[in-house]
Amino acid sequence: MSRRKLAAGNWKMNGTRAALSELQALVSAHPDPSVDILICPPSTLLRDAAALADTAPLDIGGQDCHSEATGAHTGDISAPMLTDAGATHVILGHSERRENHNESSELVRAKARAAHAAGLTAIICLGESLSEREAANTLDIIAGQLSSSVPDATTAVNTVIAYEPIWAIGTGLTPTVAQIDEVHDFIRTRLITRFGPDIGNGVRLLYGGSVKPSNAAEIFETDNVDGALVGGASLKQSDFSPIIKALEESA
Ligand code: PEP
Repeated sequence: MSRRKLAAGNWKMNGTRAALSELQALVSAHPDPSVDILICPPSTLLRDAAALADTAPLDIGGQDCHSEATGAHTGDISAPMLTDAGATHVILGHSERRENHNESSELVRAKARAAHAAGLTAIICLGESLSEREAANTLDIIAGQLSSSVPDATTAVNTVIAYEPIWAIGTGLTPTVAQIDEVHDFIRTRLITRFGPDIGNGVRLLYGGSVKPSNAAEIFETDNVDGALVGGASLKQSDFSPIIKALEESA
């Protein structure tokens, strides 16, 4: 099954309105991309980013959403609010949210349901810590996160899975291609077992963790890698564009 590749950028808590020039530069550099391009800016930039991307082949996403649509949740943002602001995607269960905000896989699943109900594609992140990898527990951790974080109503359209080993995020460390291959094959097999071949083969699997222009091509050669979730290297068009080009060349 052919899956359209996806280059997704997670700006995290970076960027004021001045950073929109990077988005403009990205739009100008990729007028007709052969892969999907997504930028997830901070919430404060969503409206401006969506307006800028409105007529361009670029999607805009949020970095988190609440599991409820409205209510007394000071500081939170809901899935319908993201849709209203022009987002089409939302990152959920990023390890920084799981760690800094104590988010459980069950909460991530509730958020994914809310995202689906609002018409958003949920990018659900999974990944092991360094100690879990060193204890040879990686696949057990991934299996547990996958079954508890991913809702039953998953489809190839409403869900993307991102494998992001925690020890590789923002550290410059990356797993070997064989390690990425092993985990992505494992996730693919689990998805097929749970959702059947159409959905299981259709859900896109991203790799995330210190992807940069110098290692992107090698990572994208891996069979079940359908793109990347990129943090630091998505902040500047000059860093993100070569990653997008490497993905286009691998497609
Ligand atoms: C991320 O935060 O999802 C990420 C992969 O970050 P970085 O590319 O900076 O490692």
